[in-house]
Amino acid sequence: MAEYDIRGKTAIVTGASSGIGRATAKALAAAGVRVAGGARRVDRLETEVALELDVTEPASCSRFVDEAVEQLGGLDILFNNAGLALGRYPFDESNEEDEAAVFATNVNGLVRMTRLCLPHIRAGGHILNMGSVAGRQAYEKGATYVASKFAVRGFTYALREDLLGRPVRITTVDGGLVETEFSIVRFKGDTEQAASVYKGIDPLTPDDIADCVVWAVTRPWHVNVDEIVVKARNQASGGRIFRDT
Ligand code: NAP
Repeated sequence: MAEYDIRGKTAIVTGASSGIGRATAKALAAAGVRVAGGARRVDRLETEVALELDVTEPASCSRFVDEAVEQLGGLDILFNNAGLALGRYPFDESNEEDEAAVFATNVNGLVRMTRLCLPHIRAGGHILNMGSVAGRQAYEKGATYVASKFAVRGFTYALREDLLGRPVRITTVDGGLVETEFSIVRFKGDTEQAASVYKGIDPLTPDDIADCVVWAVTRPWHVNVDEIVVKARNQASGGRIFRDT
């Protein structure tokens, strides 16, 4: 079966300044895709088109999409990757700020970017949403993040219903523990606590997720990879982890 040829296609990758987004932008570029990356830390972007983007701000998203589409000359692939968790505590210790930031980024930001990109995505296109195993199995002390990733999965299913018949493919990638800056952000700069998350487990790497994305977009055109669930070998869920220490 012939692979789908993505050489010469164009892509938007949100959250391309770090971790999974950065690795995926690189992998797509290596496969011949012209990539526009967005993030708040624009100085860290290494994509062909590099533009400031805050997915929580409607005006920033509109400006980003308009400029990215213009510079790329059209759009084929959208990888909605920007996201974060804040804090690791039982829900009765939660607060307004953390909840608002997580939902505004992981849910509203992803929905908004999808809505703004959709009119530009050409026939033969592909939308990929970065979910998480947290969006499939709840774990303790992560209620807001878990809820946000369940929402990503629900939105992706609904989008598939609404776009049925349109020549665009849709995939969620539900990742397990991937060693990135995710935990540094979650623990608000506490690098020691962040490092302990990955201790003794042989976590996934951002390149493992990039592989999944490139695999999904290169399947033959009649194949829609709905969901990819990929965990570190040493984890059963987001919360149940075997540590070899
Ligand atoms: P990361 O290294 O912290 O990268 C997060 C990326 O999201 C950064 O590029 C960051 O860029 C961007 N971002 C955050 N808020 C943003 C905003 N308001 N506007 C635009 N960009 C924003 O973490 P990562 O692990 O690669 O996370 C990427 C995605 O994978 C997230 O959706 C996360 O939930 C998901 N995920 C991670 C894991 C894991 O274990 N690491 C597992 C499953 C799923 P700026 O800060 O420069 O804006």
